Amino acid sequence: MTESAGACDTRVVIPDLPALPRPDAGAVKLVLAGQAFATDWRIAVYTTQERLAAGLEHTLLGRVQSWLDLIDRQMSPYRPQSDLCRFNGAAAGSFVALPQVMMQVVRHALDVAELTDGAFDPALLSAVEMWGFGAKVVPDGLPPEAEIRQVRDRANDWRDLVWQPDGMVRPEGVRIDLCAIAKGYAVDGLAQMLSLEPGISAGLVEIGGELKGFGVQPDGLPWWVEVESADGAVDMPRTVIALCGHAVATSGDLRRGFEHDGVRLSHTIDARTACPVRPEVASATVIDRDAWRADALATALIVMGEARAMAFAGQEKIACLLRVRDNGTMREIVSPALEAWL
Ligand code: AMP
Ligand code: MG
Repeated sequence: MTESAGACDTRVVIPDLPALPRPDAGAVKLVLAGQAFATDWRIAVYTTQERLAAGLEHTLLGRVQSWLDLIDRQMSPYRPQSDLCRFNGAAAGSFVALPQVMMQVVRHALDVAELTDGAFDPALLSAVEMWGFGAKVVPDGLPPEAEIRQVRDRANDWRDLVWQPDGMVRPEGVRIDLCAIAKGYAVDGLAQMLSLEPGISAGLVEIGGELKGFGVQPDGLPWWVEVESADGAVDMPRTVIALCGHAVATSGDLRRGFEHDGVRLSHTIDARTACPVRPEVASATVIDRDAWRADALATALIVMGEARAMAFAGQEKIACLLRVRDNGTMREIVSPALEAWL
């Protein structure tokens, strides 16, 4: 997903727009970029000459970096010292004190797990690692059947996590993974930080293809964001979204995954099988007010597959665009909630 100049031959998505603060004609654009969570981040803001001269760039860089570091320190499955790894390695049945930000993400994750009936599952780290999509180095080829069965038939799952504001008891065998929601949460945090900053009237935040925008540009136009085009896409319109107070996230195997015997395996796992999802829905793009929700729901829609995803999106009024593989080509479907914004 990238910032777009806007164009013709295009599906234009304009979500409900809030009352928008508009930068002064003399506003200047400041762009900062860096790396976090093994991906790129980028923010663009409109601000005043005065704030710029007073060292806004330096201030923001420090604050952005410390927010991203906090998320990583608390929730990275790749850092053995993270709070998440500490929880996953704790003795079964013991209470593990956990920081407030992580517990807020866990709260959201459990709510989405409930809403999606476990399609989004924050306790799949063992399955993720078994398939080679985590920190653990695994041998080439498929995991042994016995191991898949053992992970699939585990006694406890996310339903056994009892949320408390300051930590949780670790159920036997449960290892949590917040990778499908934490990036979105980090985007929300950055957007909120920037929108509260004096002298910043509009901003667009991106971490690894997940974006959130607020305010409008000095010409009165919204931030335009384009959904990346798909491999094998034939006669597909471009999709450009106006992001002012909304976020957009995409999940799917277009970016990550691997081929095995000619079958593309997704890095998204179906908890019912402990195996990668069959590649029916190649990508799911969700637009929501919250980036954490868009992020988590996009992952869930991939697990659900086309029919269940569309029924769920209709029922829960989720604005989404699915790309579905069909005999070697790709087709797109939009949910009614997204259709209403076209
Ligand atoms: P995303 O790119 O947001 O769809 O997140 C994918 C990542 O989330 C994977 O690399 C796993 O770490 C984790 N994951 C895989 N399957 C699931 C699932 N069904 N529910 C929640 N997280 C998952
Ligand atoms: Mg996600």
